Parts: sequence; structure tokens; C-alpha cells
Amino acid sequence: MNTFNVAETYESNVFNDKVMKERLPRDVYESLAGSIRRKSAIDPSIAGVVANTMMEWALEKGATHYTHWFQPMTGHTAEKHEAFVNFRGDRELVLEFSGKELVRGEPDASSFPTGGVRETYEARGYTAWDPTSPAFVKGTVLYIPTAFCSYGGEALDKKTPLLRSLQALDKQGRRILKLFGEPEDTVIAIDCGAEQEYFLIDESVYNARPDLIYSGRTLFGSAPPKGQDLDDHYFGVIKPRVLEFMQDLDETLWSLGIASKTRHNEVAPAQHELAPIYEPANRASDHNQLIMETLKSIAPRHGLVCLTNEKPFAGVNGSGKHCNWSLSTTSGENLLDPGKTPSHNTRFLLFLTAVIKAVDLHQDLLRLSVATAQNDHRLGESEAPPAIVSIFLGEELTEVLESIKAGVDRKSKERVSMDIGVVILPQFLKDTTDRNRTSPFAFTGNKFEFRMVGSSLSISGPLFVLNTIVADVLMEFADRLEKAADFHAETAAIVRETILAHERIIFNGNNYSDEWIKEAERRGLLNLRKTPEALAYLTKPENIALFARHEVLSPMEVESRTEVLLEDYVKTLRIEALSMLEIAKRNIVPAVLKCEEDVARTRLSKTAVSDTLGHRLEDALLGKLAELADALTERIDALETAFENAPEGGGTMELACYFGDEAIAAMTALRETVDALELIVDARFWPLPSYGEILYSVK
Ligand code: ADP
Ligand code: MG
Repeated sequence: MNTFNVAETYESNVFNDKVMKERLPRDVYESLAGSIRRKSAIDPSIAGVVANTMMEWALEKGATHYTHWFQPMTGHTAEKHEAFVNFRGDRELVLEFSGKELVRGEPDASSFPTGGVRETYEARGYTAWDPTSPAFVKGTVLYIPTAFCSYGGEALDKKTPLLRSLQALDKQGRRILKLFGEPEDTVIAIDCGAEQEYFLIDESVYNARPDLIYSGRTLFGSAPPKGQDLDDHYFGVIKPRVLEFMQDLDETLWSLGIASKTRHNEVAPAQHELAPIYEPANRASDHNQLIMETLKSIAPRHGLVCLTNEKPFAGVNGSGKHCNWSLSTTSGENLLDPGKTPSHNTRFLLFLTAVIKAVDLHQDLLRLSVATAQNDHRLGESEAPPAIVSIFLGEELTEVLESIKAGVDRKSKERVSMDIGVVILPQFLKDTTDRNRTSPFAFTGNKFEFRMVGSSLSISGPLFVLNTIVADVLMEFADRLEKAADFHAETAAIVRETILAHERIIFNGNNYSDEWIKEAERRGLLNLRKTPEALAYLTKPENIALFARHEVLSPMEVESRTEVLLEDYVKTLRIEALSMLEIAKRNIVPAVLKCEEDVARTRLSKTAVSDTLGHRLEDALLGKLAELADALTERIDALETAFENAPEGGGTMELACYFGDEAIAAMTALRETVDALELIVDARFWPLPSYGEILYSVK
């Protein structure tokens, strides 16, 4: 039997530790692996040997080119291929890849978003090799993960702040671990597993929807008679064609070193999910980008198109990307696992309360870390976590915190209070802790799951924010604990004070309910519904100071990132509005006219036959069509006017706010009319495949 060898395929295209160990001279390998392990700088003198070895390995895999692979602030990845060819002496062709070429590249930065950094410096940008994420071969190209920055060293990408935040969290976390007696050289592993949701539709319906082509989501479309009401898709039998796609996908992902683990149908028709096994956050972030790219590139082989947009269909579940996040020690002890002994419990409680405090203090940053025009449609819709940030802890853990707060023992036998006032936790059964799918930030036994992240977003933003805010609280805790005369008493005091001060962020109920919105308001929690409203918080002095304090973003980088995010918001809405206008004018209007003509002609010919024949149907339909046709022309004009009236000369924030209010209102109104027309216009004339046709297009 011809069986597929998963073990052989896994990482077969990755320049991983095993390959380095086999191929690099021993001293070079030791030096490189040591730097990666200790998270310290690479010795520049080994770069030449590493580059040459990498090239030879890549050539065996069929590569002809290499590329520095980076993640500009577009949220996509960028690559510029260089062949391994060079001339030596008198035009003698040689294959070459130097240490210099491995370590540093110089792409032109002028066409990437910089949010104003570029003006101050120059167009030149640099890419710098990130040895903590292994190089890989895809097709005929050797990909080298890199960070991307300006001539002046300002980060112009998504990776750099993530790397810096990992350093910051490691630094502060280590201070705490040292106090708990961990060895000096311990490092903190920050892990992430990002579950990816997506839709798969047939390419024929995709090609007939200009809105999907231009903006990745449907801008018109009325709800199908059967949506997700019956819940028959969730975990349902996977259709053979989809399964073939998934198998193809997994095999490619495995070869790239992505441990794709789980695959299943999601709640909405045509919606699916993939989850890889968690890994260090930086690699998880690179790998998530590769997952999104591979999803899109494999789909056409199966006559399919993959939609990663947050909300491709109104009224149908959107797609998220749950970021599972945890911290552990070098020896693999999960710091968010309650553990078996009282001292582990204390450490656990300290890290747990640090996260609680960080999330409460920085609700604004977490919210804005997932703010995009697309995700705004998802957050707060009935099936996605609301725009309000809160933490789900589960009943058991909340009870433990309650008893600490009250300073009393928990009653049950197996839980006794130690003299330091810290309760011994029972061992958690992971499965009993979380079945609350509505929480934006849920504790799930030994990790947190950040569920507000949108399906098309790079996870680096949410991750660097989370890492930084937790690092900041750990720094404060470490400052106090290092000075404390009685470490245990001080730890207990910190845990108790933190719970008392930040318990408002804990909510175990239904986040989708209207009551929660009111309750959250009473608790003073933020509810930032739209992206510009959320982004206004990024440049608050305390947030600028926070990122500067941990050297994650300089004040200038914060400013430039805000600018890029706002520009992206405006551009997205502009594309959507223009797409709507084009489709409305060139496709919808002619269809409505044709339908009106058809009905009117029927009405006339009927009367010609006999004026005693009934014509109530034709009259009613014509009346409704005429009424909606009037609304259609008014609303097209209104959207055009909204567009023309956009403020000029003001800042990007002003423009973003204008688009967020005026353009969205005009777009919503136009959509309402078109969707009403779709329900009465003869299907033969309607120019767009319906929701039903799209969502059930894969047979
Ligand atoms: P769920 O019940 O949410 O589906 P799973 O156990 O299936 O939970 O995990 C979902 C994702 O979380 C996977 O990508 C998994 O690898 C990741 N994950 C599991 N444990 C951890 C951890 N300790 N840290 C980070 N991610 C984790
Ligand atoms: Mg999950």
C-alpha cells in the first residue's frame, strides 16, 4: 500500500535544528544553536558558513533563488527573489550566497506603508535575518524570515515589535522566576497556537461576485432561507472535495514545519477551521502568515476560493483567529498551570493576577490591537465576542479568587489555605474550565485564549500588545517583590490587592447578551465599537510611555503605526464604497430596469387581451419595484455625495472618523435597498449569485 509518510514530510522543507546539526561544522552549529536558545546575538563570523550550507541544502531541494521574507505593515508578507547566480573573474558563473546576503538585505522601502517614518529618513529599508524562525524552501525559493526596518532603525514591519515584546516579557518574567528560586539562566517561553477560521466557496460563484474580488466580502446579499440555523454544519461530515483540499493543505503545511493538527467544519455553511500545535510565538506568527497564504494558494487546485475575511457574509458567522497564549519555563513548566504544590500555586496566582491586571488596565490596547474595518463587522455581531474586553475565568477559579479576596479558606476539604493566605488550588481538569465560547479573553485551564483577533489579521499585533502589557505588570510586581522583607507575605498581598482592584474585568456570563453591555458600562469597562474610536487610544501619553518603557515601540513608531492603521481603515472603506457604487450602477440598476420592463410589459399585454383580467400581482410588484427603484437612485446619490464630501486637508483620524460614520451609514442604507430588491427581482435578471448559491456552492 502506498501510505503517506507524515513523519518524513514534516519539516522536510525546513532548515531546522536537525539539518543544521548534520550539516554545519560543530563549532558553528554550537554557536548558532546557543544564540538561538539563549536569545542572544549571533556571532557575525559564522554567517558565511551558515549561508553557504543553507544554499547547498536549498539547491538539493530544487531552489534556484533566495528571498528575505518580511512582513510590512500591510499585514501581508513581502518577498523579492534573488537567484543564487553570480559572476566571478571573467564572467564565470558561480552559485553563491554570502553571509552578508543572509544577514542583511536592502529592499526599497518607499512603496511600503511607513506612516510618515520615511519622510524623516530615507527610502532605504533593511531586512535583518531572524534566526529564531527557521528558513524554508517553498517552490524554487529559499525563504529567510527577516525583520524589516528603516535606515534609522525604526520598525517598518509586524515582526520587530513582536520580537522586542518577547524580550521584554522574558526579562520581567525572569525577575519573578528568580525570586521563586529558578536558575539564573532560565528563559521564558512564550507560546501561541492560533486557530484559523475560513470559508471555502466554488470559484465559479466567486468570479461572479465583484465585491468578493475587490474587497474579500459580500457588500450586498440578503440572508438565505437556510443559514446556520440547524447547526448541521458544525463538526459535520466533511465533503469529499473539501477533504481533498484539506489533505493537500496539511501535507504542504507539514513540509513547511507547521504542525497542522485539527481540521473541522465550523458553524456557518462553507466555514471551516484549522489549528496547528502551539509553538514559540514568533514562529507561530510567521507560520500563521504561511497558513493564510497556503490556504489561498492551494484552493484553486481544487476549483475553490478561500475567504479569510472577517465577515464575508452579513448575518452569517464571521471568522476569527483564536490566539491561545501561555508562558512556560525552560524546563517546560507552564506558568499558567496551577500545578501540584502550594509554591507552584503561588507562582501561578501571581502570573494569573498579572494577566488580569494587565487586561483590565489595558483594555484599550487589546481592543485596538484587533481593530480593522473588517473586524468591526464581526466584533459585537451576535456570534462574535463584543468590542468590550473582559476575562472568563470559570467558576472554580473565580471562587478561589473570591476566597482570597475575602481572606477566608475555601470550605471544601481538599482546599486548604496556607499561612501566607494563598489557597492551594485543586488540580484543574482542563476540560471543566472553559466552555464559554462568548468570552473575548478566556482562561482555558493552562492558557489564555484571545478570541477577538480577526481571521485575516497578523497575530503579531495582538501578541506584542499582550506581551508588553503583561511585562509591564510583572515589572511592577518584581520591583515590589525584590524589595520585600518577607517575599511570601508580599506575594500574598500583591495577589489579594490585584484581585480587589481589578475584579471588574472578570465576567463568566454570556458576553453576547444586551445585559452584559449595560453591566459592563456600570463597571466602567470600555466599549470601543469602531476602529477610529479605538485607535485614538494608541497615542495616549500613557500608552506611548508604556511601549517606550519596554523598548517595544518608540514614540515615533507608535505615531507611525497609528497612521498606517488609520490609512488602512480609510482605504478599505474607500474600496468598499467604490465597489458598491460600481456594482449598484452597472449591475443592479440595469437588472431592476429589466425587471420593471418585464412586469410592465406583462401588465400591458394582459390588458390588451382583455381589460377584465385581474392584474393585482403586476400592479403590486411594479409598485414595490418603483418604490425601491426610487430609493435605489437616492441612495446611490447619497453614497456618492458622502464620498465627495470627505474632509480634505485634515488628518487621517478626521478622515477615518468621517468614513466610519458617514460612508458606513450611506453604504448600509444602499445595501438595505439592494437587498430588498434582491428578494423581489426575477432571479433571471439578478446579476449576482445569491447567498444561498454561494454558501452551498461546494457540493
Ligand atoms: P480548544 O478547546 O480551544 O479547541 P485546544 O486544546 O484544541 O483547545 O487548543 C486550541 C489551540 O490552542 C491549539 O492550537 C493548541 O495547540 C493551542 N494550545 C494548547 N495548549 C497551549 C498552550 N499551553 N499554550 C499555547 N497554546 C496552546
Ligand atoms: Mg479554541
